[in-house]
Amino acid sequence: MSHTYERLPDPGAGLRLHLNENTAGCSPRVLEAMRAVTREQAAFYPDYTSAIAATARALGLADEQVLLTNGLDEGIQLVSNLWLQRADDGVQLEAVVVEPAFDMYKACADTAGGRVVFVPPGDDLVFPLDRVLAALTDRTRVAFLTSPNNPTGLAIPREAIHAVARAVPDRAIVFLDEAYADFGRTTFLDDLRRFPNVVVGRTFAKAHGLAAVRAGVVAGAPDLIARLGRAAPPYSLNVFAIAGLVAALDDHEYHAWYTHEVETSKAMIYEACARLGLHYWPSDANFVLVRIGADAPGVVDELRQRGIFIRDRTAEPGCAGCVRITAGVVEHTTRCVDALEEILWRDAR
Ligand SMILES: *Cc1c(COP(=O)(O)O)cnc(C)c1O
Repeated sequence: MSHTYERLPDPGAGLRLHLNENTAGCSPRVLEAMRAVTREQAAFYPDYTSAIAATARALGLADEQVLLTNGLDEGIQLVSNLWLQRADDGVQLEAVVVEPAFDMYKACADTAGGRVVFVPPGDDLVFPLDRVLAALTDRTRVAFLTSPNNPTGLAIPREAIHAVARAVPDRAIVFLDEAYADFGRTTFLDDLRRFPNVVVGRTFAKAHGLAAVRAGVVAGAPDLIARLGRAAPPYSLNVFAIAGLVAALDDHEYHAWYTHEVETSKAMIYEACARLGLHYWPSDANFVLVRIGADAPGVVDELRQRGIFIRDRTAEPGCAGCVRITAGVVEHTTRCVDALEEILWRDAR
């Protein structure tokens, strides 16, 4: 068991296109709201009523269907602690994880004492529904699905999620990580009432630019959410996160502007790939997975020397030769694409 989550060293000053963060920063209204926190508010334990209501409203859900978490990471940890705790008889409960996957699932499942059953991706990284169904056993307690997936940017077809939710054992849940749903075209939130064994995770780290503030939410049937709430620390979000979150959710204009920048940036990356003859996966997220080939690590390195950080994903299952490029503010994408073209055209000569 590794019990570890990869902590990347801070690359220093430069253009951060390696962690799918919001490259513009949060809405200015977030900081205004934080500055308005009073001395008394800082001194008293926080009240979550208005933040829960604002979050539920933003997601089109009832208050009882949401639990705020200290980033979505905490949601993943809570789910793992509740459903994957090793049983008294020593039997290890299982989590199904579809590769390539966000590494928190394994880190949290391991720590809880569970066992991860990895499912390799289908051809061209398509969601391997049959293999997922085949991986389910009577020991399965969580099926971790990610839509849109990281690092592929591919959404899971809704019918496939339905199929997994119907196939998991009675005591199991599907944890559907929708960290990037703001940038895509679909969400499972409107299906939650029909599928009471699905818990959806969302984060405000990406589209809303609150990665350092730490604010996420898990959403699902009220009884599951109540169970998760009892397992969570009572004050996961601090008062500044609460103030910032409410302000961020209220600034629709900023959110619309940023997601539009991301759309334009993705199109620019696709066009650059077409010019360079590189394979890429059309993405529903705020990043694009691009197959550069054998020289991918060298290209990542060369971009780093120019102060542009992208992520080497060559070691991920199904991602040989691949890098992941965050698509944020158009001006940032322009800088990255120009540098990438310069490096690759030069190498081609
Ligand atoms: C970034 C990310 C998260 C974590 O979000 P936080 O709110 O920053 O903890 C969860 N899942 C996936 C797939 C992510 O990429």
